[in-house]
Amino acid sequence: MKIKKGDQVLIISGKYRGKKGKVLKAFPKEQRLLIEGVNLRKKHIRPKREGEKGQIVELPAPIHISNVKLICPKCKKATKVGYKVISKRTLRGGAKGSSKDQKSKVRICKKCGQKI
Ligand SMILES: [Zn+2]
Repeated sequence: MKIKKGDQVLIISGKYRGKKGKVLKAFPKEQRLLIEGVNLRKKHIRPKREGEKGQIVELPAPIHISNVKLICPKCKKATKVGYKVISKRTLRGGAKGSSKDQKSKVRICKKCGQKI
């Protein structure tokens, strides 16, 4: 899944188009994301004890990943996510080419080319 928990995203379609929010939870199987303040649904909370009032709260419901774009934390633009395979050694800033070197897949912003 290209977008993960904690990412900032821009909503690109539907009622919340143009709104930005943070991903609270990702559901890779369904390709859906729960985004802070987006796709709010009213939920009735029953009183827990006698004498307490029931409440109506607004909670976000998951939306499909195709409705959002990632906001790059580096260039602050809504972008497409690319992938790049680099060695973990390079990630840590060390020398390349060791036989023990492991490869790691990182996300890349297609606008500025930075690792996300
Ligand atoms: Zn960028």
